[in-house]
Amino acid sequence: MVNVSKEYAEELDRQDELAHFRDEFYIQPGTIYMDGNSLGLLSKRAEQALLEVLDSWKQLGINGWMQGNHPWYYLSENLGKMSAPLVGAKPEEVIVSGSTTTNLHQLVSTFYQPIGTKTKIVADELNFPSDIYALQSQLRLQGYDPNEHLVQVETRDGREINEEDIIEAMTEDVALIVLPTVLYRSGQLLDIARLTEEAQSRGIVIGFDGCHSVGAIPHKFHEWGVDFAYWCNYKYLNNGPGGVASLFVHEDHFGKTPGLAGWFGSDKEKQFDMSHTFNPAETAGAYQIGTPHVLSIAPLIGSLQLFDEASIERVRTKSLRATRYMMDLIDHELKPYGFVIGNPTEYHRRGGHVCLEHPEAARICKTLKEHGVVPDFRAPNVIRLAPVALYNTFVEVWETIQILKQVMDEAQYEKHPNERDIIA
Ligand SMILES: *Cc1c(COP(=O)(O)O)cnc(C)c1O
Repeated sequence: MVNVSKEYAEELDRQDELAHFRDEFYIQPGTIYMDGNSLGLLSKRAEQALLEVLDSWKQLGINGWMQGNHPWYYLSENLGKMSAPLVGAKPEEVIVSGSTTTNLHQLVSTFYQPIGTKTKIVADELNFPSDIYALQSQLRLQGYDPNEHLVQVETRDGREINEEDIIEAMTEDVALIVLPTVLYRSGQLLDIARLTEEAQSRGIVIGFDGCHSVGAIPHKFHEWGVDFAYWCNYKYLNNGPGGVASLFVHEDHFGKTPGLAGWFGSDKEKQFDMSHTFNPAETAGAYQIGTPHVLSIAPLIGSLQLFDEASIERVRTKSLRATRYMMDLIDHELKPYGFVIGNPTEYHRRGGHVCLEHPEAARICKTLKEHGVVPDFRAPNVIRLAPVALYNTFVEVWETIQILKQVMDEAQYEKHPNERDIIA
C-alpha cells in the first residue's frame, strides 16, 4: 500500500540523487509542468549554448563555420556523437539533422526497396499521424496504392499493439516495417530487440520512431541491430520548439546512397570540392540534406551535457519510480471518479508518461491548467502526465494528484465544454 502523505513525497525527494538537476531548469513559480514528453523545458545550459552560438555569429560572421567554441560545420556530427550513448549507438551512427518527419521521409526513401511482390510497408494503427502520412506518400511516390500496400497492425484494446500481431504481419510481401518505440498515447514500450530479430530473420528492414523514448529510456540500437531510427529532440531532450531532430543508421548500412541527397551529406573533406558527383559521408552524416539549422541545434549542446552528467540509466530509474508512485496515488486517491490507467504497468513495457483515461478528459485538462498543472490531452479521452526525471519532483507528483482529486470532488471541470483546444 502506498503511503499517501506529503511527508513521504518529501522523503522520496530527499533520496533522489538527480534532485539537483532541477536547479538547471527554468521552472515557473506556481506551475507544475507535467508535459515534458511533449515539449521539454528550457535549461540554463541550453540557453547558454544558444547564446554562445549567436555570439559566434555576431563575432565571427562566416568564420563561425570553423571557429569559435562550437564550429558550426561539425556541430551535427559532434552532437550525434554526444547523443550516441542515449540510444546505444556508435558515435558515427547518429546525426542531428532535419525533423522527425523529414528524417522518416529520408530513411524510407533510402530503405524502402520494393522488389517483385515484396512491396508492403507494415506500421501500426496507433502511430502518430505524421508518420503514417509520410509512409502513405512514400508509397504513392513509388506508384503503390497505400490502401493496399500500407498494412497497419490493429490494436486489440485501443491502447496497445500486441507484438505477436506485429510478428504475424511480417509476411513474405513485406519490405519494410516502421514502428514507434513507445506509443505516444498509451506509453506502451515495444520489445524493440525482439521485433528487430523477427523482422530481420524474414529479410525485412525495420526502423523505429524514438520520439517518446529517447531521453527517457536507454536503448541498444546498435547491439539490437536496428536498421534505422529517428526522433525529435524537443520532447525529453529539451532542445526547444522546432529544435532539430536526429537519426540513427546502423553501420552495416554505411556506404549506401541516401534516397534524398544534398551537399551536407557529403564526405566533409570533399564537400567544398563542389563536384557534381555526390560523395556521401561514410557515416550517418550522409543522410543530411542542406545547411544545418544551427540556431535550432544549439540548445542541444547544453542539454546533452546534462544527460551526460545524469546518465540515461539514472534518468530511467527515477522516471520509473515517479510514474510508479503516480500510478499508486491514482489507484489510491482517484478510484471513485472513473479514471482508468491506460498505460502498461510493467517496468519493461512502459515509457516515461502516465496515460490517464477519463470520458471528461478534455475539460479536466483545462481545469488542471487553471490550477497551474500542465498536462496534455490526447483525443478522445487521454490525459498524459509525464514526471520528467531531470526537473520534476515527487512532491509535484503528489500535488498533481491532490489537485486532480479536488477538481473531481468539486466537479470543477463542469464549467468548461468537453472539447479540445486547437493545440491539445
Ligand atoms: C512528436 C512526434 C512527431 C513529431 O514530428 P515532427 O516532424 O517533429 O513534427 C512524430 N512522431 C511521433 C511518434 C512523435 O511523438
